[in-house]
Amino acid sequence: MTKDVNLMEKIVSLCKRRGFVYPNSEIYGGFAGFWNYGHYGVILKENIKHLWKQRFIFDREDMFVTDTSIISNPKVLEASGHVANFGSEIFKTEVGTGEDTTVSHLRAETAQGIFVDFKTVIDSHHPKLPFGVGQIGKAFRNEISPRDFIFRQREFEQMEVEYFVKEAEWEKYFDMWRETMNRFATEIGVTIHELDVPIEDRAHYSKRTIDFQFDYPFGRGELWGLAYRTDFDLKNHGLDYFDEDKGERIVPHVIEPSLGVDRSILAVLASSYIEDELGGEKRVYLKLPKSIAPVRAAVFPLLKNKPELVKKAREVFLNLKSQIPNLEFDDNGNIGKRYRRQDEIGTPYCITIDFDTLTDDTVTVRDRDSGKQERIAVSALISKIRPQ
Ligand code: ATP
Repeated sequence: MTKDVNLMEKIVSLCKRRGFVYPNSEIYGGFAGFWNYGHYGVILKENIKHLWKQRFIFDREDMFVTDTSIISNPKVLEASGHVANFGSEIFKTEVGTGEDTTVSHLRAETAQGIFVDFKTVIDSHHPKLPFGVGQIGKAFRNEISPRDFIFRQREFEQMEVEYFVKEAEWEKYFDMWRETMNRFATEIGVTIHELDVPIEDRAHYSKRTIDFQFDYPFGRGELWGLAYRTDFDLKNHGLDYFDEDKGERIVPHVIEPSLGVDRSILAVLASSYIEDELGGEKRVYLKLPKSIAPVRAAVFPLLKNKPELVKKAREVFLNLKSQIPNLEFDDNGNIGKRYRRQDEIGTPYCITIDFDTLTDDTVTVRDRDSGKQERIAVSALISKIRPQ
């Protein structure tokens, strides 16, 4: 396949046109490094985060979830090495007003919140090693040069796991998370290329890092990272664990799969953006995996000025929606326009109610990828479009 040099522009334009992602503060000329998500962008993002939570946390028995604050006691970032390594570069903020202020920083990674809470997790749940804690949250980087749409932002979101293991077992669990990340990439329809990061390019705390890279329209770049953080963080925070097998206190070692939400979205969009020809006309569509498409199916009356069709279409729509929430009703413009809109949003199915529906209770279901239509009974719709 030849590389489309304009692909990035096309994605940015589709995102704006269809309400996925907009420049922040656009009426004031935007603000470099900051982007806003619109309706479909938010839903796509929620679907990706939901899937991550399932695969990295809830499908397992050794994982806990947390949600820690963006700003913390300044001592946290001193202990983590952030102040020493990037002190002048991190987002400074004053907490409190008047005389009584404390200088702190917005976090550059969600990880530290998990390390600092290590003891509370032990006290609440008494887990045995290995176990992990995951969280999704915003992170901030002031020092970067924003570029390439949502690839490199000043404010972005991460999905991170800190997985605590005995030192001797770190390689085994590193490989376990590597596999989980590969499976997740497949599930969201993204092809990744692993790069073992050489020592000189690794973060100060890491003894091994794999970058999961993706071929973005502008070239190959990091999508996610998997790092062996050793015992660096827990040691710096003065935290340890009582190993019942050995009868002594040890400092667990840490494996960290770190996934950027925004880069995941960009990779998903770049992987699913397709231009083809259907019925002699050019079209653009997003071949999104059904599990993450913002709209599962759209329901249309064939004509919007025929009350009996609209009434029947509303009835079919509301009935389906009570069981499959992410449905959309659309009676704007003609049917061709509605298909184009749903294709660009990545909606897997379009259901049309026509005059035959009124007599035989069947509808047409159009498949996004092939553009083919089939006629099925209204009663068979749920099993046709229901998420697997
Ligand atoms: P890069 O080398 O591209 O700057 P990084 O190695 O600093 O990234 P990490 O600190 O490992 O990134 O952060 C984990 C994940 O967070 C990255 O794999 C990426 O998905 C995401 N991420 C990091 N920085 C940004 C950013 N500025 N904008 C959007 N996402 C980011």
